Amino acid sequence: MNDTFKHKGMRLQLVSTLKSKGITNENILKAIAKIPRHLFMDSGFLDHAYQDKAFPIAADQTISQPYTVAFQSELLQVKRGDKILEIGTGSGYQTAVLCELGAKVFSIERQQELFKKTSKFLPKLGYRAKKLVFGDGYKGMVEEAPFASIIVTAGAPFVPKALLAQLDIGGRLVIPVGENVQTMTLFVRKGPKEFEKTEFGEFRFVPLLEDKN
Ligand code: SAH
Repeated sequence: MNDTFKHKGMRLQLVSTLKSKGITNENILKAIAKIPRHLFMDSGFLDHAYQDKAFPIAADQTISQPYTVAFQSELLQVKRGDKILEIGTGSGYQTAVLCELGAKVFSIERQQELFKKTSKFLPKLGYRAKKLVFGDGYKGMVEEAPFASIIVTAGAPFVPKALLAQLDIGGRLVIPVGENVQTMTLFVRKGPKEFEKTEFGEFRFVPLLEDKN
């Protein structure tokens, strides 16, 4: 659990890279400047932790690229106290960003190994999600719905209806949709059955898989 001035310096460089790529939300940039991303990665990748790249974590999964984390976080338009559902806890890095933004975070992971590891790790850094669940994110978390926003951090072959149904009116679903390449897609719930859809650029994620492992 070592965070040095060198790491802090590298984080500030990462923040300027993200700014140059178009990220403007100050709260998100502050969160990225603060969170020790290197501690979320396997020790073999420590030197790469502050490059703007995705890297392998346990169970053949990846920690998302910082730019992707920042881009998705901006689309969520997080306000303090918002109830947010994350699909794909993974390393817990995105979860930590949402906690820093003052959200009440609920997160689901389908890989048991990652679920166990991250459930132990996040509180050690002081990040307390409201609920971390081992389960299938396609179903959302119906017992805690509705949510102010939902973020999917794996590539979804289609948009799960359960997730749209678990949004507040005015709520936002940010989901990368596609098989090999994904289009970042935002759905805003305008009414009980009315959704406004906006598409952003292309991203690459590990796939959103059905059922838990
Ligand atoms: N937010 C994570 C991204 C991890 S990669 C991070 O920043 O580290 C995507 C994660 O989604 C993987 O951990 C994968 O196991 C998980 N996943 C894939 N399909 C899922 C599903 N149906 N439900 C919940 N999690 C899922």
